[in-house]
Amino acid sequence: MPPTGSSSERDEIKSRIEDLIESNQVLVFSKSYCPYCIQVKGLFTDLNVNFHAVELDLMDNGANFQEMLLEMTGQKTVPNVFVNKTHIGGCDKTIQAHKDGMLQKLLEEVNEVYDYDLIVIGGGSGGLACSKEASVLGKKVMVLDYVVPTPKGTTWGLGGTCVNVGCIPKKLMHQAALLGTALKDSRSFGWEYEEKVTHNWDTMKKAITSYIGSLNWGYRVQLRDKNVNYVNSYAEFVESHRIKATNKRGKETFHTAAKFVLATGERPRYLGIPGDKEYCITSDDLFYLPYCPGKTLVVGASYVALECAGFLAGIGLDVTVMVRSIFLRGFDQEMANRAGDYMEEHGVKFIKKFVPTKAKELEKGTPGRLKVTAKSTETDDVIEGEYNTVLIAVGRDACTNTIGLEKVGVKVNEKNGKIPVNDEEQTNVPYIYAIGDILDGKWELTPVAIHAGKLLARRLFEGSSLKCDYVNVPTTVFTPLEYGCCGLSEEKAVELYGEENIEVYHSLFWPLECTVPGRDNNKCYSKILCNKLDNERVVGFHYLGPNAGEVTQGFGAAMKCGITKELLDGTIGIHPTCAEIFTTMEITKQSGADITQKGC
Ligand code: FAD
Ligand code: NAP
Repeated sequence: MPPTGSSSERDEIKSRIEDLIESNQVLVFSKSYCPYCIQVKGLFTDLNVNFHAVELDLMDNGANFQEMLLEMTGQKTVPNVFVNKTHIGGCDKTIQAHKDGMLQKLLEEVNEVYDYDLIVIGGGSGGLACSKEASVLGKKVMVLDYVVPTPKGTTWGLGGTCVNVGCIPKKLMHQAALLGTALKDSRSFGWEYEEKVTHNWDTMKKAITSYIGSLNWGYRVQLRDKNVNYVNSYAEFVESHRIKATNKRGKETFHTAAKFVLATGERPRYLGIPGDKEYCITSDDLFYLPYCPGKTLVVGASYVALECAGFLAGIGLDVTVMVRSIFLRGFDQEMANRAGDYMEEHGVKFIKKFVPTKAKELEKGTPGRLKVTAKSTETDDVIEGEYNTVLIAVGRDACTNTIGLEKVGVKVNEKNGKIPVNDEEQTNVPYIYAIGDILDGKWELTPVAIHAGKLLARRLFEGSSLKCDYVNVPTTVFTPLEYGCCGLSEEKAVELYGEENIEVYHSLFWPLECTVPGRDNNKCYSKILCNKLDNERVVGFHYLGPNAGEVTQGFGAAMKCGITKELLDGTIGIHPTCAEIFTTMEITKQSGADITQKGC
């Protein structure tokens, strides 16, 4: 039955409905009392999607609208839902469209006119990779990067943590320490030089920061060449699809985009004890310290703590590490303890099972003098110690609590401030994605952030379906004796497959370059964990020795290809190298046989 009224009235209703469909991304023809309509409106509210509801029962000519909808859509009942001009249908069809992902896809096809196709918040490893890739794919892209200075006032340029206060300065300072060892070794190889060899912090710091400066500049040039609009401002959401950008002079600008990628990374956590922010530093300050830190206390026992303690000791400083519980939580504990023991044997002191409670300044200076009070985690013991520098390395907090996520409804894990995403790095708000260190339950590593960022841009703008694979990610801890691994720790492998189903092949080894100087015999160690239920497939790879990153990278590729013990045995080694040990491992841990090496 056609809608009642004159043909001009009908035409007017039709055109009003068409206007509503045209101007509303999500449109629900509804009746205020209808439980199905309430359910559908609730779904959009949960998805944090703005919708426009036309309550037919509250309109004078609602019945005529309903008749016209029947003519236009073949559906008289409510709710009658349109998304991006596409007719979805009633309650069941809308819920089904949500379940099979069609609703999300339609919601993403934004027909509004935005300033940008993509705005990326954070110009670090992930953000730069994603923004450059999106721009290469022809999209209009903006990336915002802003460094909030540390409590000590340290700040740096474009590129994020890795380049400025992470991987790059860390690895270069580690290299400075390795050179010290090489210098000592060199005498055994015939090098003769005057007795006194000293290390100059200022020269090292200036050389490294100058190199970082060239990287910062390189990133700017790349962004310009790829037509990415880089803005050095702090970004926060103010409403759906809209951010405010505040530059260092406090000038505010506003920008909109169809899609957003969050890549804001993390910053070091403080202890929350008296004196920590006033007198202590974090890794964000260490690499830019204008003076040699002197006698240093490092608090924490994970990656950052052990790596920094390692290179500081390596350049000749008096270093103590205060460990709350274990070394390298989450890593294979046998390997972690071997890496820690090596540090202890090479001059790093450890205060185990203690946490600091207070840091007090005894004397100002560069460096000054601090007194640290600490308490035992097991007894009532309290200790005190004096240091020139206290480096806090007790973890990092995701930069997610001051970027207006609550204004756009992005869900954050309240326990750790991290952002949960699906396997396409999409948050609960369909047009907002997240990558890198801020992701909940994912790796905090530069190559992971870069890889995820690139693939995300390709999925968003090139129709690719390739997702980031977070399994079997190889990594290396650059402690004085480096530790590389890929796959499961022994603890995790046993937990997953059962002790009886895991065969561990292991070996100590003596790198050839250490033989002539006569150091570190039987300190280096390697092991692989093989799943007996799956043709002895390698599920865990662990290497403690020189050049661990270089060694582990290739085995990471092999594990991606599903390498088994048999295939490793069939691989011919490269002699004389450390990595060749993995082609000749015969002794199982279970056998209890001697694994010490007598020669190369
Ligand atoms: P980041 O690189 O941290 O970039 C985020 C950027 O966003 C920063 O520049 C930040 O200032 C900016 N930002 C934050 N909020 C806003 C905002 N609201 N508006 C604008 N800009 C904002 N990984 C490795 O793979 N190998 C290593 O050897 C290694 N060593 C490390 C050593 C140390 C000491 C540390 C701390 C980390 C190390 N990492 C290492 C980890 C690596 O640095 C990170 O995983 C990587 O940088 C994460 O990249 P991201 O893009 O998630 O964030
Ligand atoms: P982390 O892995 O979160 O470790 C934090 C450490 O601090 C732990 O040892 C923890 O001890 C200790 N700690 C926490 N709170 C403490 C407190 N109140 N008092 C004393 N100790 C406390 O953090 P991170 O070392 O900063 O590393 C962050 C991430 O950066 C890592 O996950 C890693 O992915 C990345 N990273 C990578 C590399 C690399 O690739 N080589 C290098 C550096 C960093 P408990 O064990 O007792 O909790």
